[in-house]
Amino acid sequence: MTRVNAPEVNRSFANAGLAVGMGHSVLRRFCEAIGLLCLSLKTHQAIQKEVHKSALQSLQSNLTRARDIVKQLYQKTEDFFHVAVTYDGTWHKRGHTSLHGVAAVICAVSGLVLDVHVMSLHCQLCKVMEKRLKDRPDDLERWKTTHRPKCHKNHTESSGSMEVAAAAVMWGRSEQYGLRYTTMISDGDSKTYNELTKNPPYDGIAVTKGECVNHVSKRIGTQLRNVVADERKRGVTLGGRASGALTQVMRIFFYLS
Ligand SMILES: [Zn+2]
Repeated sequence: MTRVNAPEVNRSFANAGLAVGMGHSVLRRFCEAIGLLCLSLKTHQAIQKEVHKSALQSLQSNLTRARDIVKQLYQKTEDFFHVAVTYDGTWHKRGHTSLHGVAAVICAVSGLVLDVHVMSLHCQLCKVMEKRLKDRPDDLERWKTTHRPKCHKNHTESSGSMEVAAAAVMWGRSEQYGLRYTTMISDGDSKTYNELTKNPPYDGIAVTKGECVNHVSKRIGTQLRNVVADERKRGVTLGGRASGALTQVMRIFFYLS
């Protein structure tokens, strides 16, 4: 990969900014405040591209290594390794209004990440070009046709549906890597599992669901606390020190057993 022709100090400055979420405009304001000349937007964009490319290469090489390790833990069935996984997603911002989300498939035995997928409701380049070509709809349409394969916007529905959509992508491409995620250990949210049941990713092979012990015990604990609170409202005491009472200790016992 050819490196951007920029002094090392500029490269480190831009990298440090990216690591803490500071874009070029924030870096420029920062430089102005302390009386420094800032690197140009063009150089910053070139460094940003370089960092992105190198991060992607590193991600792919780590995922390949993780898949190779996981293949040693399982027996092959019909050309594929059937792996038990956990699956979860996270968003850039909380409250189901985030423009970006990322989800990961993780091997339940080794804890290694087997695949990740980023979902985005936004593409900065599209936004800029839509503004620039707003009076030239034909040119904008032509530009969009060439830009589409590289567009960052890959999701059009709600932020909340990103996790399910990302699962469909990753389960759909798992066979490319010689893997089938045939057991999914749920975190208590069954939306993704329901979707995989409705649209099975593998021919004639169902994805089965396992429950995470931690999440199950958390749910039982909540239910037991609710029982105690509800009964208290009706004047019945389930707690107290009497033998067999549903004390905090008993609840902890239920958690663990
Ligand atoms: Zn775009």
